[in-house]
Amino acid sequence: MTVTSRRAARALVLVFALAATAVADKVVLNDGRTYEGVVLEETDTSVRFKTAKAVLTFPRKEIASLERSPVGPLQERETRLGVLDPGKPAEYLAAANWLVGPGRGALDLPTLRRLCTIAAKFDRAHAWEAQMLLAKETEAAGLNREAGTCLARAEIAKPGQAETKSRIEKLRTVLMREAQTEMEQLQKALTLLTGEQYEKALPGLRKARTGAMSERAPDLMGMSMEQLVTFVARRVKCEKCNGQGELPCPLCEGRKESECADCEGTGTRKDYKGGGREVNLAESACKTCHGLAKLLCPRCDAERDVIVFLAAAPTQFTIRVKGGSETATLQKEIDFKRFTHQAIKITMILAEPPRSGGTLPCTPCEGIKFDSSAPPLPMEKLRAYREEVAACLIGTRTYDPLPVAEKAWDPAVIADEMLRYRNGRWAR
Ligand SMILES: [Zn+2]
Ligand SMILES: [Zn+2]
Ligand SMILES: [Zn+2]
Repeated sequence: MTVTSRRAARALVLVFALAATAVADKVVLNDGRTYEGVVLEETDTSVRFKTAKAVLTFPRKEIASLERSPVGPLQERETRLGVLDPGKPAEYLAAANWLVGPGRGALDLPTLRRLCTIAAKFDRAHAWEAQMLLAKETEAAGLNREAGTCLARAEIAKPGQAETKSRIEKLRTVLMREAQTEMEQLQKALTLLTGEQYEKALPGLRKARTGAMSERAPDLMGMSMEQLVTFVARRVKCEKCNGQGELPCPLCEGRKESECADCEGTGTRKDYKGGGREVNLAESACKTCHGLAKLLCPRCDAERDVIVFLAAAPTQFTIRVKGGSETATLQKEIDFKRFTHQAIKITMILAEPPRSGGTLPCTPCEGIKFDSSAPPLPMEKLRAYREEVAACLIGTRTYDPLPVAEKAWDPAVIADEMLRYRNGRWAR
């Protein structure tokens, strides 16, 4: 990263920090929890609120105070994005221009990528401007390769523009310096690898995965760098997980579930005074765990089925729940108020044993299991690849560090087909 781009990246971080503190709305709950973000909707009974991580709904009666900041970029951003219509791609470009201009306080790169990509895809006439804008912002954030790809896309959108050319040439110099360092790392790792020093080669290979010359690996070596890393990692026994590729989840210690804190594992509402007589579970059960007494671990992707038994037809139904969203799913699917109101008695709520979870992929080995019978590596091809890298390094072979593009927009950005912004998030 150059000094200027590093400075720009820092400036961007600063802008985010300011955006989060200076212009955010604030909700304080009765229990003291405080959230900062943007109010999406206020009704008589609830407030829908967007934080940096999620969209939350708070019942009015749980809110101690709600402070609304004067309309800042974060609030304005919600309004501007909320009216976008894929039938009018020009508006996406306008929103992008607002984000990098007056709305800079609410700028984030994923949103900018999406806006520019939609504008470029659905109206070719906007593709050049959209990619030039994205190139500028990604370069400012220190993402030089991405900026290079954007410029390559801009060149496809409108070939032969002087402005595109001069920016490409400037960036090429920067990228070449980075490429040199990356190729040196790659060459070193490949030398270790051809000397069968797998363990020593692995860290360097991991670093070189997305670096210069990695894009030529499939041609020269018959596999991608990512595949090569997996191949090599299988031969190196990770010390942390003893080659297992996974570790017990630190939060639940492998148990996949833990006692519900709200009812202290009893499954019954703390303030419930009934008892004795036969009751509708909807009246007595803890609202957090719905009488299950245990909740799935939110950390390790634990999952299970919950079966609800009713006194009237349909006599039972099954709900699939996941750790982290378990309470929300249960509240949505077993609406206690409705059951109480309609006097349909819930006789029992049972949970099947958790079917997954309990472990997390090991970080150092990236979850790759040790395999003593892994097939041999194609040493001939590895050597040929290393020779090619060496030739580019000393300059006997030319290397253009500028990424190539095939389209005037990046299909990966909108592969999820989320083109509309609804209720504080991107949606289909
Ligand atoms: Zn490991
Ligand atoms: Zn866990
Ligand atoms: Zn509970």
